[in-house]
Amino acid sequence: MDGTLDTTTSGMLENAISVPCSTMAAAAESAAARALRSVLHRVSQAAERSGRASHQVQVVAVSKTKPSSMIRELYDAGHRHFGENYVQEILEKAPELPDDIQWHFIGHLQSNKAKSLVGGVPNLFMVEGVDNVKVANNLDKAVASLGRVPLKVLVQVNTSGEESKYGVEPSECVDLAKHVKFQCPNLKLSGLMTIGMLDYSSRPENFQSLIDCRKHVSKELEVPEDELELSMGMSADFEQAIEMGSTNVRVGSTIFGPRDYSTKK
Ligand SMILES: *Cc1c(COP(=O)(O)O)cnc(C)c1O
Repeated sequence: MDGTLDTTTSGMLENAISVPCSTMAAAAESAAARALRSVLHRVSQAAERSGRASHQVQVVAVSKTKPSSMIRELYDAGHRHFGENYVQEILEKAPELPDDIQWHFIGHLQSNKAKSLVGGVPNLFMVEGVDNVKVANNLDKAVASLGRVPLKVLVQVNTSGEESKYGVEPSECVDLAKHVKFQCPNLKLSGLMTIGMLDYSSRPENFQSLIDCRKHVSKELEVPEDELELSMGMSADFEQAIEMGSTNVRVGSTIFGPRDYSTKK
């Protein structure tokens, strides 16, 4: 009797241990889809507070360091815009995932990697982080040689003045925007992007600086402001950014959970 009970109990224990493991894996994946839903809800509320509709704000799910399986989970939930900021990583993931994903390369791009990025990711939707003439020229040449449609790019502006940040100074944004618009026929100047303060909770003045840059670019290049995206706002500050007029937020950890960089070269 005791022996029988023991066997039953240990059998149940095994189940108790093995079942939750697989359930946990499923729960971890759907947690990302749930987190995305919650972010989309917060985005639509912030958009409303800024007098806009939620479809006027693009949410880029920043999937760097996260496995393709998690991206697939959000793809299956209907999301299409994903952001990566390591060339090697996007080159590995893009072929594993559906080709109607709209990939955003976000942050600084080394000019010598422009060609492999454009060549390896046919469904590259936008480069958010053109911060010098050389990378613009290399992207332009790569697009020309592949004969693909013009590539949308945003000029990255260093609005916080931190040395650790890439991006042109606000005073230089018009010049780089001009270069892209008039010297790079295979690129489409689509707006401006900034990161802001190091702790990823940008101060309003950083965002205001990007808004001012857009005003100058619009005026100097004679492009309507509403044809220029403002990519600002991340996990810690996307609602504030939207309230200030952001049209494109890049949200990583709030959707995918904290990142582990230990495997990054
Ligand atoms: C990683 C990254 C993000 C996302 O940051 P979270 O704080 O995780 O939302 C946004 N923009 C750039 C350029 C990034 O590199």
